Amino acid sequence: NKQVVLKEYVTGFPEESDMDIIEGTITLKLPEGSNNEVLLVKNLYLSCDPYMRILMTQGPSYVTPSITPGTGTPLRGYGVGRVLESGHPDYKKGDLVWGITTWQEYSFVSLDQSLFKIEHTDVPLSYYTGILGMPGMTAYVGFFELCSPKKGEKVFVSAASGAVGQLVGQFAKLAGCYVVGSAGSKEKVELLKNKLGFDEAFNYKEEPDLDAALKRYFPEGIDIYFENVGGKTLDAVLLNMRLNGRISACGMISQYNLTQPEGVTNLTNIIMKRIRMQGFIVSDSYHLYPKFLEFILPHIREGKVLYVEDIAEGLENGPAALVGLFTGRNFGKQVVVVSRE
Ligand code: NDP
Repeated sequence: NKQVVLKEYVTGFPEESDMDIIEGTITLKLPEGSNNEVLLVKNLYLSCDPYMRILMTQGPSYVTPSITPGTGTPLRGYGVGRVLESGHPDYKKGDLVWGITTWQEYSFVSLDQSLFKIEHTDVPLSYYTGILGMPGMTAYVGFFELCSPKKGEKVFVSAASGAVGQLVGQFAKLAGCYVVGSAGSKEKVELLKNKLGFDEAFNYKEEPDLDAALKRYFPEGIDIYFENVGGKTLDAVLLNMRLNGRISACGMISQYNLTQPEGVTNLTNIIMKRIRMQGFIVSDSYHLYPKFLEFILPHIREGKVLYVEDIAEGLENGPAALVGLFTGRNFGKQVVVVSRE
């Protein structure tokens, strides 16, 4: 039972060498006397998500418990698996599930509000780590529920080519908005404009003055900002928001590896422009998952919403894939394949 474990708590940027691949043993049987709220699964796909970095830091955080290094306990995160054993009447051997699992070949997973049975398999299974899983729900809740977009509104999305961002941009187009995305390479910018239907996109690394860049793309200002990166980008956005604008505070990846977070200086704009900025954690809204599936599945089947994935083959390539999120190495949703069957 191959596993990915954390060696030390991480400070600064995470590196592959912060993790180890070890060969553990596991008895492929539910423990004697275990209640029926635990399943034994074979992990098929694992999801690389920025919040996993927060689990690698010592100290309290919004995602608990953090991963304790040096205990041989594998990393924890979202994934897709096949049930090998279940004591629960609703789950049978062979069923597919997505939700919180551990980074190893086989895991015991808990049946809680973060575990879902997969009912639709006419779409790629790996999608349940992305568009049909946690990131898809994040884009849906953060954009539609928090921002109540209206036709013709001007939307800006940062980390726009990633797991969440690429969907927010496409949802904005479905809502009849004008949408601009920022991303960290020429290839990502081309993807946004030529394949995913963004009206405009730019490479933030080549914009010495983000305020000027935003003024170029939003001469009348921004109605909705979907915040994925924080820091300097948020500061520049605040200068360019319109009256009664909304900011969906989803993530601030530019801050996760800093020991001293960057200051944001333009906050008074929130008052002057009557901006509503709201943070959210997607798992609080998992009761909306059935409604989301009803919305998204037809769009996927009809090719009206596309999803770009970056697939790393093999658990042993998991650490590199995970740390790559923080240098922008991933091109679309970063997935790790543990097994295809
Ligand atoms: P992505 O697939 O977008 O991967 C992360 C991307 O962030 C990288 O590819 C990189 O793209 C960009 N990035 C990395 N470092 C920086 C930096 N210093 N400045 C600007 N951009 C950077 O990740 P997700 O779509 O999964 O997540 C996007 C955001 O959403 C994250 O902040 C995450 O924490 C948050 N999130 C929040 C949830 C919630 O419940 N609130 C749930 C899920 C995600 P590039 O090349 O463009 O720089």
